[in-house]
Amino acid sequence: MPSYVDPSKCDGCKGGDKTACMYICPNDLMVLNVEEMKAYNQEPDACWECYSCVKICPQGAIFVRGYDDFVPMGGQVHPMRSSDSIMWTVKFRNGNVKRFKFPIRTTAEGAANEYPGETGANLDDECLLLESELPTPAKLA
Ligand code: SF4
Ligand code: SF4
Repeated sequence: MPSYVDPSKCDGCKGGDKTACMYICPNDLMVLNVEEMKAYNQEPDACWECYSCVKICPQGAIFVRGYDDFVPMGGQVHPMRSSDSIMWTVKFRNGNVKRFKFPIRTTAEGAANEYPGETGANLDDECLLLESELPTPAKLA
């Protein structure tokens, strides 16, 4: 089910050129109604429910109607991201609420480098990033 914006919570990212949800959506679905200063999903059918907009929205204004197999009708699963952790709030259809908090990173933002020294810039051969030579058929067997 696609994402949707609760207009009572959305503040249009306070009038920035590009809102957080517009910046993060990999499918360019979020747009801002500049007169109302409210964002909305312009093409719900194309939303693949990746939750990126939900996690980045500073106002917690975006929700996804989860599929019934993990969020039955009446329930809700909602993430709230901070700089070092993410809190998932699970509302059960019987009214119970549980929260689960997980760390999301151990390095400063922008500091992670999984392959130090590797530029990945050699586009002239067919090797993968960490291959120095192409595997021979014997090695593949
Ligand atoms: S990120 Fe949230 S507050 Fe900002 S424009 Fe989108 S829905 Fe509104
Ligand atoms: S859930 Fe993902 S694909 Fe859908 S609008 Fe949000 S960021 Fe875009």
